[in-house]
Formats: sequence, C-alpha cells, structure tokens
Amino acid sequence: MRINFDGAAQTVTGSQHLLNINGYNLLLECGFFQGKRQESYERNCNFPFDPSRIDALILSHAHIDHSGNLPNLVKQGYRGPIYATPATAHLANMMLIDSGHIQESDVEFVNKRNVKNGEPPIEPLYTQVEAALVAQYFSPVNYDQPFEPIPGVNVRILDAGHILGSGAVVMDIEEKGHKMRLWFSGDIGRRKLPLLRDPILPDWTDYLIMECTYGDKPHQDPDLAYDELRQVVGRTLKRGGKVIIPAFAVGRTQEIVYALHQMFESHLLPIVPVYVDSPLAVNASDIFKMHPECFDDQTKAFIQADKHHTALGFDRLVYTRSVEESKALNDRKDPMIIISASGMAETGRILHHLRNNIENPKNTILIVSWQAPYTLGRRLADREKKVRIFGEEYEVKAEVATIGGLSAHAGQDFLREYALRVKGRVKQIYLVHGEPTAALALSEKLLEAGMEKPSFPELRDCVEISG
Ligand SMILES: [Zn+2]
Repeated sequence: MRINFDGAAQTVTGSQHLLNINGYNLLLECGFFQGKRQESYERNCNFPFDPSRIDALILSHAHIDHSGNLPNLVKQGYRGPIYATPATAHLANMMLIDSGHIQESDVEFVNKRNVKNGEPPIEPLYTQVEAALVAQYFSPVNYDQPFEPIPGVNVRILDAGHILGSGAVVMDIEEKGHKMRLWFSGDIGRRKLPLLRDPILPDWTDYLIMECTYGDKPHQDPDLAYDELRQVVGRTLKRGGKVIIPAFAVGRTQEIVYALHQMFESHLLPIVPVYVDSPLAVNASDIFKMHPECFDDQTKAFIQADKHHTALGFDRLVYTRSVEESKALNDRKDPMIIISASGMAETGRILHHLRNNIENPKNTILIVSWQAPYTLGRRLADREKKVRIFGEEYEVKAEVATIGGLSAHAGQDFLREYALRVKGRVKQIYLVHGEPTAALALSEKLLEAGMEKPSFPELRDCVEISG
C-alpha cells in the first residue's frame, strides 16, 4: 500500500493523508489549510489528486484543520461516504457552515477594498450553502464499531480524548495475502480533561502515523490549571470586576462552563452570571448535550446527581444569540463572567467586550489557549501596555491572566508514552501535525528510550509499506 502525506506535513494545519490500498483510494481527513491568504487559497482549492477518484474518507474529529476543506472536496466531485463518529459528524456540519459564513464575510471585506483599488473581485473558498452539501455524505459509526470503507480494510475508531467525538483510526489491512495494522492517532487528547474520556493508547501496530503538536513541550496537570482558573475568577469577583475570556466556541468554552458550574455547586466560587456570547458556542453546547455517549464516568455521574438537571450547567447559563443582547452586557456593572469567541481575539464579539472592559483595573482578561503571533490575544498575553481594537488605542488597565495548562492536545510526556506503547513491534512511526522543532524534540525522546528514529515526512512525500 501507499501513503501520500498531502497535508499537516511538517506543520500543524491542513491535515490530509491519502492511502492507496488494493487499488482503492482512502482519504484520512480533509483539513483546511490556514496560512497567508494567497497560499491558503491555492492550497485549499487545488487537491494533489482527483477528488472524484477517492472511494471513501475517514474523519478523526471535527476541528476545521481536519474537516474544513470537505466542502471543496465535494464541490470538486467527491461523492463517497465520510466515516466519523456521530458527534464528529454533528459538530463538523455545524462548524463547516460557520466556516462558509466566515469565508463569505472575509471575501466581502476584501472585495470592498478591491473595488476601491479597481481590482477584480474574488470568490469565497466556499459558501455556507456549499458547506451544507457535505452533510449528506456523512456515514456515522460508533466508537469501536468495525466498518470496511474499502475492500480489505477493516477499521475502528477509538476514543482520542481530544474533543467531543474525536478518535484515533485503527486500520487492519489485508493486501495480496499480507496483513498489517496501520494506526492513525488523529489529534491526541489528554488524561483528566473535563467531560471527555481519556485517550485510548495503541496496544500494538505495524505502522503508526501520529501527531506531535506539543512534541517539545510537557504540559502542566489539568487539575492545577483548573485550580488557577478558580483563583483568577475568585479574586476578580471579590473586587467586583468582570472576567472576560476569549475562547474557541467548540470545546474550550464547554469545558470552562462545566468547570465553573462544578465550582459554583461545590461553593468554591460565589455564584455569578456566566454569559456565553457566541452563537456558534451556543449551538455547539446543544450538540454536546445530545452526545452523552462521549462523556467520561465522572461527567455522567455529575449529570445524574445534579438536582437541577442543568445538563452540565449549560442550561443555567445565559446564552446570547443576538447582537442586541450582546451589546446590553456593556451597560452592566455587576460582577460576571463573559466567554466569547474568537479564541485569539482577532474577530467576533469578544472585541466589543475587550474594548468595553480593558481600561477598568477591577476586570480580568483571562487567556486560556495558545495565541498565534500578531493576534490581539498574543499582544495581551505578552502584557503589552497599549493595544489597538477596531483601530483605536486602549490602555490595558485590567488584570491579564494566562492559564497554559488547559490545552486539549497531549504534551511531550504523553506523546512519548503513546509511541512507547508500540516499541518492539512497530516498523515505522511517521510524525505529522507538528512543527520541525516539536518533531525533533519528540524524536530525541524516543531515541533515548531505545526506539528507532521516527520519520518526519515532507509535504507530498509518498511511501510504500507492506505487511
Ligand atoms: Zn484537533
């Protein structure tokens, strides 16, 4: 069989690997490539293969860097099934439509400028309507339920503990009388994340394609991170301030809401209103509630024991769908917690909340995820004294707190443990979904542990493997 590394090769974006087995084409992931505008446009529009010749597709989880180019794949002729867990299919449909909306509004913005400069208008990568066409191809499969996407390949999706519905893809392959196992990690989660079950580690495999996003960074224990959350929120409420949290709408928002709800219930924090101000987060929370099969035992027990039947506390929140409701929060002076997208404070409603609260020393801006260079979130995390929001300069007088331990990705120690599980049996490990520094650091750890050096394929690399 052949593997073509067609995305997330030596980088973390645009996940896509093409397998050719028994003459059939099986695509793992169809992620959105995010980078500079022109490069993104070209990479996402031009597949290195003919989409109409792909026989089946397996999606590990709903994050846009894994699912976001599905609308283009369908637009260019893909008509096969998309296998994923029911929660992944559900979340992906919603996120793709949201992504279509973002593409359309981005283009609108660029085209206004183009018209002014006498340049021709550009087309969105895909529209909301095109994104909605993907839904009909989803073929949901439960965790651990075997299926045969192409002849000779028996597949199961196992819990990856990364986001709701996320999985590793285990493929038992028979080709020309030879048998082998190929394990694709998807994005590897962490132990003890709120809501989700812990990731399942490989028992054995002949070949392993694994992510290495944090190959160079060990993570702090999630328990410590949630304790920091309690402290930051506690001291802000004590001085009568608001806590403003930029957070990704899917995953991080629900985890924080659940954690806060538990802290209120156990009287670790005074009860204050929590506003989730992001239409996408509201819809995502509904999808979380519809998939209790993905929750860990602790969460299931918590739901059972909750007298108020608030389903993870989501029901007790105030969700704001409309812009008017969102704006009304600006006039409120009482202590509260506002969680809003985007997670890196680049766009979206979070900008209004930051603008209105950043100059009050009672308030706290709480950064809970990695912030890309040059984003407003990064400037805040770097403790810049003055920042620009909507073109105006603001003094940062609010407290800025950062909590680093809440990542949904495995840190270096756990990645090492994951790979070590297949020591002695594995013929080759391929590191994907990571920058070179991360892959190098993880490779060194594996060499120290007596393993062979993993391969770190470049974009468009192609390998032949056999049983
Ligand atoms: Zn992910």
